[in-house]
Amino acid sequence: MSARARWAGLAAAIWLAACGTVNPYYDASRPHHRPGGFVNVGGPTGGKPFSEFARWQYERTRDGLPRPPTEHVPGFTGFPVQRPDLALLAENRRGARVTATWIGHATLFMQLGGRNLLVDPVFSDRVSPVSFAGPKRRVPLPARLDELPAADVVLISHNHYDHLDEPTVRALQAQPGGPPLFVAPLGVDLWLRSVGATRVERLDWWDTLRVDGLEIVLTPAQHWSSRSPWDRNATLWGGFAVRTPGFTFWYSGDTGYAPIFEEIGRRLGAIDLAAIPVGAYAPRWFMKDQHVNPDEAVRIFREVGARAAIGVHWGTFELTDEPLDAPIGDLRAALDAQGIARDRFVLYRHGETRTYEGR
Ligand code: ZN
Ligand code: ZN
Repeated sequence: MSARARWAGLAAAIWLAACGTVNPYYDASRPHHRPGGFVNVGGPTGGKPFSEFARWQYERTRDGLPRPPTEHVPGFTGFPVQRPDLALLAENRRGARVTATWIGHATLFMQLGGRNLLVDPVFSDRVSPVSFAGPKRRVPLPARLDELPAADVVLISHNHYDHLDEPTVRALQAQPGGPPLFVAPLGVDLWLRSVGATRVERLDWWDTLRVDGLEIVLTPAQHWSSRSPWDRNATLWGGFAVRTPGFTFWYSGDTGYAPIFEEIGRRLGAIDLAAIPVGAYAPRWFMKDQHVNPDEAVRIFREVGARAAIGVHWGTFELTDEPLDAPIGDLRAALDAQGIARDRFVLYRHGETRTYEGR
């Protein structure tokens, strides 16, 4: 290759990086589509400029944040980790009962309609592009992936590292009995295939997938996406509803508080169980557009009209400035202030399994 060709190639690479990405699913009729990716509708388009990220990093280093989880909640002595109810989960395989097990952070193992589902499965010790640096798991995993019943369906809400973990995806693809079906927002399907996933379905907001007696709907969220400095908002983000004739589960995905939840509740109808983030919200000036705090999580719970909720996205990785246990007290205060009984919107222990009745 001549020197001139090399320079042209380099210039093209720089230009491509600077201009961002190409959205292969671009549909000009859809307001959240852009030729290079996706945006939030009617809200701030996700992702903060580097200058604001740098200010946040400077301030949290200067102030020694986050503080250790010790005295935020009276009587708090650390995170109890329990084993999932593996006997129940094994016995209920293909069974009628709805179960939910919180593995930590945003990872849930669910049984619904006789199927095993994993939501945003992350079983690695760090949520980072590299294994030697980045936010580390502060509370041990309650179970290994291979101790859980094999997954039938894996839901990936977006491509941030605390929701989409490459070693976990590879392990699921190789699980005994064959790979699960991965369901992901537009663009994340291509990443999944690039790391070897073979059974992949992609959804746009409000698309519905019918599979194995389940109806899976991708719902909008106010968030953003990125796995590298060059792919900001190139792939879509969202939440999921999973419905059977007798039960509707809805996971909001990562989201800021936005005027989208009443419509989600209206379109889905009765929600029996919601999973809503309650952590990674400080400092508010930086996080507000992308992550709700517990007060906003309870508002979302009320706006979608869910019967019950589990708080997720907390207590596992120190991603932001609030102490790891802060959601415990802040969620209680938010429920009391908004007049919602504390047993309707709960936090599980790491590893805890609960069962739910359908309608
Ligand atoms: Zn995220
Ligand atoms: Zn997240």
